[in-house]
Amino acid sequence: MPIKTKRLLVATGNQGKLREIKAILTDYEVLGAKEMGLPFDVEETGVNFSENAFIKANALRALTDCAVLADDSGLCVDVLGGAPGIYSARYAGENATDEDNVEKLLTALQDTPDENRTARFVSSVCLITEDGDVLYGEGLCEGLILREPKGNGGFGYDPVFYSLDFNESFGILTPEQKNAVSHRKRALEDLKKQLI
Ligand code: IMP
Repeated sequence: MPIKTKRLLVATGNQGKLREIKAILTDYEVLGAKEMGLPFDVEETGVNFSENAFIKANALRALTDCAVLADDSGLCVDVLGGAPGIYSARYAGENATDEDNVEKLLTALQDTPDENRTARFVSSVCLITEDGDVLYGEGLCEGLILREPKGNGGFGYDPVFYSLDFNESFGILTPEQKNAVSHRKRALEDLKKQLI
């Protein structure tokens, strides 16, 4: 089920995500909705990552005839019952910064011993083709939550996420290293298999 053109509009205002999607989908012309002047804004009312990815892609698809892509992603911490999960972007409140969210997470885990600090990043991507076909991809990335930020690369929770693929904080990996193992990379690879 290929898309007709190599152009994809991405339903996100998150520059960190957009940068990564562009670096991973090098075969495509990837454009952010905002770069294209599309006033994209939608409430994420889904109960899981894939529902939210569809809600975002579908809202953008209503504004364009191009193929559209959305990622819904977040950090799931085992000892917190999977929180912050789909609420990762607004864990510390509606207008929370990345720093606010990281601080809330570290406080929530301050009494949690190292062996129980297991977590994973999850990404669900949804593509809607020019013809209206809907495809999904899923990706996971396993790790541990550090006791304090290490490095300032990436975005969001990267400085406190210790990747078990690299045995290092995402905050100090190069973009190329992170993009080789990330949940987003894995979700997009899963999606790409269906586009051949
Ligand atoms: P969304 O825009 O609703 O999908 O929210 C995603 C949120 O999850 C981001 O704002 C970050 O807080 C977090 N997140 C997702 N992917 C990553 C990542 O690759 N690194 C760090 N944080 C991430």
